[in-house]
Amino acid sequence: MSQPLHLKAYAKINLALDVVRRREDGYHDVRMIMQTIRLFDRLSLRIISGNEIRISTNLPYLPSNEDNLVYRAIDIIRSHYGIKDGIEAVLEKHIPVAAGLAGGSSDAAAALVGMNQLFGLGINQSKLMEYGVSLGADIPFCIMRGTALSEGIGEVLTPLPPIPDCWILLVKPTFSMSTKYVYQNLKLDDQTFHPAIDDMVTAIREGDLPGITSRMGNVLESAVGNRLSDITVLKNSMLELGAEASLMSGSGSTVFGIFTDKDRASQALSRLSADPIVHHGTVIAPFQKSLH
Ligand code: ATP
Repeated sequence: MSQPLHLKAYAKINLALDVVRRREDGYHDVRMIMQTIRLFDRLSLRIISGNEIRISTNLPYLPSNEDNLVYRAIDIIRSHYGIKDGIEAVLEKHIPVAAGLAGGSSDAAAALVGMNQLFGLGINQSKLMEYGVSLGADIPFCIMRGTALSEGIGEVLTPLPPIPDCWILLVKPTFSMSTKYVYQNLKLDDQTFHPAIDDMVTAIREGDLPGITSRMGNVLESAVGNRLSDITVLKNSMLELGAEASLMSGSGSTVFGIFTDKDRASQALSRLSADPIVHHGTVIAPFQKSLH
């Protein structure tokens, strides 16, 4: 048995999300601006006797077998590197589940990075990302972290400079959204709105926060079915409470607002927390990874 290795698995938001086309294989080509945020699950890994992969989590409804992405990430590394040891993974979830925050993807990314470290395998980042994308489209970004343009199905990543300082108000409604449902429900041919991704990239490169917030947009908002009114009400409330802009993250259901002032964001949180549709809220900073 080894000493446990402790890892942090950070959540992400999408500052912009566009779907370019539906592919033959069922995946979608996307263009997204990804931003890691300082909200994380904790994962610890250790080698145990036997050859089992044992997963425990603080959320009883999450799978602890191969349906858990952490299990699959451990398994992929074990099988590629001929590792026979048993692994115990303890997962402490803080990122809301099925919320558009890439919680499961980030846990898997942390498990890939952790296995590399635990066994001193020396796998480089691009190889780890290759294993990652075979398990989920957001996993390569969760390995890279920071701010990035994500293209292809999520595996073509262009790192961007950190966005200017700001505060992010995250609100997870009482309902969740299934990523599968939202993509199936998306009517790409009817889609007239597409966020200006390239202009947002320019604004990020110029450190221009108003240029970033004015271009926030997510085509998946049109595909949430009868939840659209709830999402719209939350977004509008955030604007009324002082957000520069507000958006649904990923395939939802989390809605976030960008604030320049922390107190204003906290006041908005306490106002929104009184709304029965709000299950959980927090004010959080972006994870600004230096490119150097
Ligand atoms: P994305 O933003 O990448 O679409 P999400 O935040 O919407 O992801 P997740 O929280 O990653 O969604 O989980 C979606 C589903 O994946 C859940 O229904 C859950 O059963 C399954 N799952 C598997 N492993 C995990 C994990 N480690 N953490 C959370 N969910 C997991």
